[in-house]
Amino acid sequence: MDTQVSNNPLICPLCGEANHCAYAAGKPAKECWCMNLSIPKQLLAQIPDEQRMKSCVCEACVRAFLTEKERQ
Ligand SMILES: [Zn+2]
Repeated sequence: MDTQVSNNPLICPLCGEANHCAYAAGKPAKECWCMNLSIPKQLLAQIPDEQRMKSCVCEACVRAFLTEKERQ
C-alpha cells in the first residue's frame, strides 16, 4: 500500500524523501525553503502529472539539479 505515500504532499515525488515544505506542514508558505530558491521548470517537468502542483520536490533534488546544470 504505497499509494498514500506517493500522494503525500510532504514527500518529494522525485526521491521519496521528506520535502520539508512549510506550506504542506500547515505553516505559512513564507517560511518554506522554496521561497528562497527558485525551482527550475525542467525539474518540475520530471514530476509525474498526478503529483504536480500537489507534492513539492525537496531542497536536495533542487540543489542536485542546479549543480548538474552548472557542470554542463
Ligand atoms: Zn527530492
